[in-house]
Amino acid sequence: MTFIRLRGNGVSPGIGMGELSLTEPVLFTARKESISASAVDGELRRLKKAVERTKSELVLLKQEIKGNMGEEHAFIFDAHLLILEDSSLFNGIKDIVREEKVRAEWALTKANQRYQELFDAIADEYFRQRKSDVSDVLARIYANLEFKKKHPAQKEQVRKEVLVAHEMLPSEAALRLSRGNVLAVATDMGGPTSHTAILARSLNIPAVVGLHDITQKVKNGDFIIVDGTDGEVIVNPPLAVRKDFLSKKEKYDHYFRELKKTAKLKPVTLDGVKFLPLANIELPNEVEMAFSFGAEGIGLFRSEFIYLQSASLPSEEDHLAAYSRIAKAAYPAPVYIRTIDIGGDKSLPQLKIEKEPNPALGLRAIRFSLGNPDLFRVQLRAILRASVLKNVRILIPMITEVEEVGEVKRLFEEVKAELENERVKFDRQIPLGIMIEVPAAAGITDILVKEVDYLSIGTNDLIQYYLAVDRSNEFVSYLYKPLHPSVLRLVRFIIQTALREGKDITVCGEMAADPLCALVLLGFGLRKFSMNPIFIPRIKQTLRSVELKTVEKVVEEAMNLKTAQDVEESIIERILVKHPKAFLLGQVK
Ligand code: PEP
Ligand code: MG
Repeated sequence: MTFIRLRGNGVSPGIGMGELSLTEPVLFTARKESISASAVDGELRRLKKAVERTKSELVLLKQEIKGNMGEEHAFIFDAHLLILEDSSLFNGIKDIVREEKVRAEWALTKANQRYQELFDAIADEYFRQRKSDVSDVLARIYANLEFKKKHPAQKEQVRKEVLVAHEMLPSEAALRLSRGNVLAVATDMGGPTSHTAILARSLNIPAVVGLHDITQKVKNGDFIIVDGTDGEVIVNPPLAVRKDFLSKKEKYDHYFRELKKTAKLKPVTLDGVKFLPLANIELPNEVEMAFSFGAEGIGLFRSEFIYLQSASLPSEEDHLAAYSRIAKAAYPAPVYIRTIDIGGDKSLPQLKIEKEPNPALGLRAIRFSLGNPDLFRVQLRAILRASVLKNVRILIPMITEVEEVGEVKRLFEEVKAELENERVKFDRQIPLGIMIEVPAAAGITDILVKEVDYLSIGTNDLIQYYLAVDRSNEFVSYLYKPLHPSVLRLVRFIIQTALREGKDITVCGEMAADPLCALVLLGFGLRKFSMNPIFIPRIKQTLRSVELKTVEKVVEEAMNLKTAQDVEESIIERILVKHPKAFLLGQVK
């Protein structure tokens, strides 16, 4: 029993420990096997049958997951059913069988390889992770090429265990994690936006991914500790280490219970000022989880995911299905749907975007949408159609100049007129807002705000561009400072300009999720904070523990300080004197 400690990426907080269970990797193991020209038709029929079996299987799985975990988690099977209906994907596979005269197993293996290579070339982690959906569906068809009698439902497996896998396919993750017996998860591959990570977070199962080769180092039955908060995994520890982690686990579990309690409390400051915690989500099935953490609406739906569920371009109906689902699940709470932020490094195989030397400054987001008006119109139509419940808002990313807003409004009006002609219902008063995340836009907030219904500050990009610090480059991350006095002046200007004009303003970048920054934003006058749902309870705890009056004073004085560190120290010190509970939950990661 070797004692091993490994570091990975903690993607779902908390500590789980217990007996280790290795899951078998799903492999495409075919060798190239040729067939005669006369056998091609038969092979294509075999493939068709396998697709049909896969379809029935997915429908059944969807029912099972719905029963185990609720409707929201069954959504991934809708995505898989859509992939299954994707004709360009299947024509490609059939072409391989026909042209190369090979068995369907080989055609699926080759198609899978092609898709993996295409997705691997994508720089954006979230997009890259979606390749597993295509693999998942192809692997299921592969398995269904041979007709197998189904095993009776695997109900016998109720033993509590820690799952260890090379990489879990989305459907496999949904099935395994939904049975209520998984104490924690550890995988070789994956990142924070992989399905396994998202699912583990929403089911509150501790998870560490990106461990590279844990599956090579462990065996079934080993004792394993997974610390999803710190990204650490320990196998076969000595008793002392085990005890240490048991007490750490108790502390975390207590913290989490406190967090959950906070989720149910009213979002008001000590002196009765209301604030609104909203959620940033990337998948439609995250709405319910977001509300369980205390979200009072969806402040940012990053709509890029719609482009990832099929190998071809999504149709208006694909867009509509996702937006309607979110709007209904959140109703009557508001939902801000952001039009796509792709292009540049978030390139997609089906969009054939040129590689750019400097993608962060390139043809991304609204620049891409305005350059591809046909695609943009499809998205605008779907957002409008999903607005019938009157809780949908449209949000435009990466606006740089007022001309872009004019162009967006012109297209928006055209699309509205088109729908009216077709007698399609939508919310005529649907609010149109823009993200302020380019410094040039921030500088003309006073001009832009008059053109739109509301603003949302994307601090992730705004800080990156304003400080000239790549938001994902660890070599310069020491310079990425939301409390840099320059950033604070700019953010204060944006918030106060919007408020002076009587317009709604939200912050949807990571700044809203940091307790100290949230206090600063509250002091500037912000009331709408949109963030990754898991951070909502701690922000509520912080803002509920303070008096607005005190915060305004402390923040105003901090604005005279010279460095981010001075600002941080001064605010923590002065707030804690008056409100000792302000960072109660914020200090635990
Ligand atoms: C931002 O830039 O702050 C933002 C919320 O958008 P994204 O993180 O999707 O770029
Ligand atoms: Mg952004």
